[in-house]
Amino acid sequence: MSRIYNFSAGPAILPEPVLREAADEMLEYGDSSVSVMEMSHRSATFETLLRACEADLRALMDIPDNYAVLFLQGGASLQFAMAPMNLMRNGKADYLVTGSWSKKAADEAGRFGDVFIPVDGKSQQYTAIPDLDEAVIRDDADYVFICENETIYGCQYPALPRVKGKDIVADLSSCICSEPIDVSRYALIFAGAQKNLGPAGVTIVILRKDLIRDDLHSDVPTLLNYKTYHDNQSLYNTPPAYAIYICGKVLRWLREEGGLPEMQRRNQAKAELLYDYLDKSRLFSATVVNPSFRSLMNVPFVSGNPDLDTAFLKLAKSNGLHELKGHRSVGGMRASIYNAMPIEGIEALISCMRRFEDGERI
Ligand SMILES: *Cc1c(COP(=O)(O)O)cnc(C)c1O
Repeated sequence: MSRIYNFSAGPAILPEPVLREAADEMLEYGDSSVSVMEMSHRSATFETLLRACEADLRALMDIPDNYAVLFLQGGASLQFAMAPMNLMRNGKADYLVTGSWSKKAADEAGRFGDVFIPVDGKSQQYTAIPDLDEAVIRDDADYVFICENETIYGCQYPALPRVKGKDIVADLSSCICSEPIDVSRYALIFAGAQKNLGPAGVTIVILRKDLIRDDLHSDVPTLLNYKTYHDNQSLYNTPPAYAIYICGKVLRWLREEGGLPEMQRRNQAKAELLYDYLDKSRLFSATVVNPSFRSLMNVPFVSGNPDLDTAFLKLAKSNGLHELKGHRSVGGMRASIYNAMPIEGIEALISCMRRFEDGERI
């Protein structure tokens, strides 16, 4: 068996100990005589597993008791619809557009209400988070939306913006659990699991409980109402059981490795190593993003010449460094270096870039 370094933006690398454990338990989970995939979601065994997953996430992120943790399906993209459906009371929300994902979220919310865009980073090709004058936030906006880390452009908020005390709804798909955050500063956090938490198929929602409503419009489908998941502890219908099981293992792994302060330390060390190299390189450059807004998780870089980019991707792949091609809308390269990417992966990448600079080709 040979495993490569997987730099994919998502679905992404998972911790190897998690995969090994899952492999060991594939035919029989504990003494249940079945795989988790075959198990009733109403069984005591699965219920225990689900509650442990929630408890580990609460402990890791220090989630206050007045927040619900929900396990949903439909990816972060469905949250682009669910958030406005559930949280718009005045029918208005302000969206800070800092890249493709916040743009998609704003477009989707526009189907449900009046969306105002106080800042749009498009004129700077999303290479920086534009300054926000909070005076422009509408007084009757129900919330302000942000995408904290724009996965495609590799552009991240260095700190939460000031939004006139409005509730913040945040897409954390590609940065959840990469460093400690103060959950109480958000109203709603959501994240598709497949970047930093587990396999595709489960979406994590962390929601302040006072925002769970009894008075939603009757057109809102049962499964698109947060209250359904809250009232039924994420077991109204069949949840994505296997994805939750793997997330539980990743969360346990994160705790055993030292929790989010330790992840932050490692992620900063990894990012620093890579950006440092790129800043000094004669050939490669990461200045596609303004250095003040560089993502810890997704590092886009270019050689400045598409033919050289292609040649580098070929050399990288032959060295076991996979999925480094940049998003089709940006080009160049992108290294996604989530929690599960060991520093050895960054070292191998840098070594390959060095050799490419020195003329190595295949
Ligand atoms: C990947 C991604 C999405 C889309 O996630 P799906 O689970 O595929 O819907 C949304 N937002 C961000 C920030 C992402 O990185």
